[in-house]
Amino acid sequence: MRIDKNGESWLSISEFNIQSYCEVQLKFIWKGIKIKTEQMIKGSKIHNEKFQEFKELTKDLEDVDIVNAIKRAIEKQERFAGREIFIVSPTFRLIGKIDVVEIGPEGIIICDDKPVKYPYLSVKSQVAAYATAFKDRYRPPLNIYMMIKNRDRGNIIWEDVFSQEWLDFSLEKINRMHELALGKRDFEPTANPKKCLTCSYRNICDKKILIPFST
Ligand code: SF4
Repeated sequence: MRIDKNGESWLSISEFNIQSYCEVQLKFIWKGIKIKTEQMIKGSKIHNEKFQEFKELTKDLEDVDIVNAIKRAIEKQERFAGREIFIVSPTFRLIGKIDVVEIGPEGIIICDDKPVKYPYLSVKSQVAAYATAFKDRYRPPLNIYMMIKNRDRGNIIWEDVFSQEWLDFSLEKINRMHELALGKRDFEPTANPKKCLTCSYRNICDKKILIPFST
């Protein structure tokens, strides 16, 4: 999150996942307390490897920007794919990098690779925020589909059309995140003690829920 010279907050889309997990984590991160876990370091390494593989695979192909890819998908039925696509939404003040974008005559797929087997709402909310930003930036006259793939196996674990309901869901989250960023609302801790159990911030968090020890 950043505050610009006009006092407006700009959100990093990867933070939507964290907000849905626990807003107190987000508070620590926005205060500059960032704990990098082994899993995060491994994740960055795998993402980078996937990007290098993609670059190598596509090195002889034509480089096309998003606006032209959308145009050619509609007019010439062509297909395009890109990795690590930088996206900015000026309307909602969002910034992010989408793992994979595929553009074809049937629509646009916004895909996130995650090391999970189950499509948690926290991950869905991140993908919905990417789709919101993409729709705002490019206004494509094509359907947008959201997808989550298991990062290690490559299988699809969730997909859905980016509908009006998802847009409304996303706008509510965006609004809440901006209010948190500007100090207009309190950060809510998770109500799920299992999250606290595996949280990297548990040693410094006074909001953690302790699970009673049973004998
Ligand atoms: S310990 Fe629990 S309440 Fe505290 S940041 Fe972690 S998940 Fe949130």
